[in-house]
Amino acid sequence: MEKREELYAGKAKSVYLTDHPDRLILEFRDDTSAFDGEKMEQLARKGMVNNHFNVFIMGKLAEAGIPVHVEKRLSNNEVLVKKLDMMPVECVVRNISAGSLCRRLGVEEGLDLNPPTYELFLKDDALHDPMINESLADTFGWATPPQLARMKELTYQVNDVLKKLFLDAGMLLVDYKLEYGLFNGDVVLGDEFSPDGCRLWDASTREKLDKDRFRQGLGGVVEAYEEVARRIGMALPE
Ligand code: C5P
Repeated sequence: MEKREELYAGKAKSVYLTDHPDRLILEFRDDTSAFDGEKMEQLARKGMVNNHFNVFIMGKLAEAGIPVHVEKRLSNNEVLVKKLDMMPVECVVRNISAGSLCRRLGVEEGLDLNPPTYELFLKDDALHDPMINESLADTFGWATPPQLARMKELTYQVNDVLKKLFLDAGMLLVDYKLEYGLFNGDVVLGDEFSPDGCRLWDASTREKLDKDRFRQGLGGVVEAYEEVARRIGMALPE
């Protein structure tokens, strides 16, 4: 597969066209952002760690029957993916209260959420990713009701697979954000799954092992991501 021109540069990943019309190459950079891009830093090894992490997790999800865009890791920082028509909707499941849920609803951090909550946000930095719902997504054409139903079904399936995967490795999957796109009309999981887009806590100490380390200036960000990778049995290059 030949890499062609850059199609789009996101905050942490760049997207390249290829010589195949239905395939893209994602390049994971070391750039790390928070608060809609207001806080930005380069963290050595982060791109490589997240690329390996995403390929590993998407492989586990594919094994569980979830349609994913990942085809093949091409290098430490690059992955070949299906070219999806992305929907501008972020799907968030929470198992434990944290982050914006606590800010919005005034609930304390760390409460078990039963059943897990499901929220939708519009992917729009300028608007600070406002919370939306299925009615708004339908009316404004961001996704159709059947697509929204499929996204919800898949997002909960991901929870079943990953809650267990992380718990078996001594971690709590607190929450996560997924994005979907269409491939030949089917809803397929796109973007990435990495500690940049989820919260993971050590199961006994509740130490934060995800991007909250960056958001909250706790340090040891990439070290924590590598610790998560090690615990789930991934081998990373030196
Ligand atoms: O900020 P909030 O608590 O709503 O985030 C919920 C989950 O979604 C967290 O794991 C966070 O890392 C992820 N998220 C994300 N990208 C966003 C918003 C949230 O990865 N734009």
